[in-house]
Amino acid sequence: MSANPEPIEEVAAAVAEGDRRAMARTITWLESTRGDLAARGQAVLEQLVPKTGGAVRVGVTGPPGVGKSTFIEAMGLGLIAAGHRVAVLAVDPSSPVTGGSILGDKTRMERLTQDPAAFIRPSPSGGSLGGVAQRTREAMLVCEAAGYDVVLVETVGIGQSEVTVASMVDFFLVLLLPGGGDELQGIKRGVMELADALVVNKADGDTRKAAERTRGEYASALELIRPTSHAWKPRALMASALEGKGIDAVREAIFEHRRALQEAGEFEPRRRHQARAWMWSLLEEDLHRAFREDPKVAAAIPDLEAEVEALRLTPGAAVRRLMQAFRP
Ligand code: GDP
Repeated sequence: MSANPEPIEEVAAAVAEGDRRAMARTITWLESTRGDLAARGQAVLEQLVPKTGGAVRVGVTGPPGVGKSTFIEAMGLGLIAAGHRVAVLAVDPSSPVTGGSILGDKTRMERLTQDPAAFIRPSPSGGSLGGVAQRTREAMLVCEAAGYDVVLVETVGIGQSEVTVASMVDFFLVLLLPGGGDELQGIKRGVMELADALVVNKADGDTRKAAERTRGEYASALELIRPTSHAWKPRALMASALEGKGIDAVREAIFEHRRALQEAGEFEPRRRHQARAWMWSLLEEDLHRAFREDPKVAAAIPDLEAEVEALRLTPGAAVRRLMQAFRP
């Protein structure tokens, strides 16, 4: 960092022109644990916020090895060929600070990385899922302000992160392997219910037949799930990311979904709901932190916890006392 950082306005203007270095710098500031840098990032973001919201936001999840990065690269290149600009972000709360993030490996998505119409950013590392997701949401806004009209958010399909990613995108894509039920693939039913499309990948070579069968099984399973929208029935598709087959159908589904929701008047309300929910989840985190950091609360917690554990005090009574300490 230079001693004389550029004015916020200049950085914001550069981002708005699609300058990838300015984008990367802004996102780095937003991810920074240094208060002054984070504040710079927020200041840039505040200037950019009227320019955000213009992208099709797509979440991509699936078990490790299913072919997420191969698929994202194939679809990303297809989108760019069709005239789009594509940003790829990731939510990977499991990645250690030592840099094991899912997009950290530079050899992944090599062709997409080199394409001037693509912007690829690995997951912010370390911290809670909430913190990682917060920074990815902000990075998404930066990409939108820079004119990227498709944002793909990747997450590994193991745990809570899928639900978080689904809450920040318009279209949620679940990639699956041929053969093996959802338990086998570690995909929880709750995640299936969030999917706008299920794609059985690796529908090629020896696994093609199994992919067809698996697709059929998932198509039947989807019949039993109540869709999250009146305007869209989730689809079960099949693809070979390696051979570039079936990718166009997924891309078409994404844009069809958008048109259908817009025509049904569901699109804008959903975006508004997501923005509001994001605000409240941030507020909850801030309040929680402020509460725990309050000296009177912090001092009272150990005793009250011990009392609750020893069954001498109900949890409800302990909470009342903590609230009194916080807000006398
Ligand atoms: P990720 O962990 O989900 O990101 O999966 P990768 O994209 O890294 O792919 C894992 C492995 O599966 C790699 O060896 C890929 O070459 C391979 N792979 C990805 N897509 C396909 C596909 O459509 N067909 C076949 N046969 N292999 C694939």
